[in-house]
Amino acid sequence: MDICDNLQHVRSQIPSGVRLVCVSKFHPAEAIQAAYDCGERLFGESRAQELTAKHALLPADIEWHFIGSLQTNKVKQVVPLATLIHSVDSGHLLAAIDQCAANNNLIANILLEIHIAQETTKHGFLPDEARTFIAEQRWLQYPHTRLCGLMTMGTANASETETRREFHRMRSLFDELKTACALPHFTELSMGMSHDFRIAIDEGSTIVRIGTAIFGERNY
Ligand SMILES: *Cc1c(COP(=O)(O)O)cnc(C)c1O
Repeated sequence: MDICDNLQHVRSQIPSGVRLVCVSKFHPAEAIQAAYDCGERLFGESRAQELTAKHALLPADIEWHFIGSLQTNKVKQVVPLATLIHSVDSGHLLAAIDQCAANNNLIANILLEIHIAQETTKHGFLPDEARTFIAEQRWLQYPHTRLCGLMTMGTANASETETRREFHRMRSLFDELKTACALPHFTELSMGMSHDFRIAIDEGSTIVRIGTAIFGERNY
């Protein structure tokens, strides 16, 4: 299995205007270096420890996104390194990120994670909670944070029809909240993984997060 071949295959299915985050979690630095050598500069990690270690080992011009569930006690490791945190699933976490960004004298770019899937194990704001967040202009409470859009994960093992329906609902919610908040930087809709990114792109995703189709299966 050649990472560069996989990448070329994945890229051929992603239109310009949609960004690819290469999800490198649980894969070694050498695998990231191979994707880097094939031209990729944007990688996604899901654990603070792993992000810190890989950031130290790999070229400085890599852009790192954080995509995993984040505990508040790990925020200080992630905020200085991640150019976008996709997985903000509570006001509590957002407050911790904002405080940390203030301490570091920077602005943290974040997406609100939306719980649209059927599984109760998934995280995120329910659509109505996100509507309230926007209607009450709650982002104003977090001046060191820039709200860049929304992220979601579809239900695992759903039918294509169900996945499409979920992503379609997400796109509608994104359009609605974009209009409601009128923030110029509210531009990103992060949805789509290895098994469903084609559907996500059809339904209006702006960022896809792809691991397995590039790096192969993960060994947890
Ligand atoms: C692991 C992960 C991905 C990538 O999943 P693949 O199926 O390997 O493409 C995407 N998004 C999130 C939030 C993840 O945790």
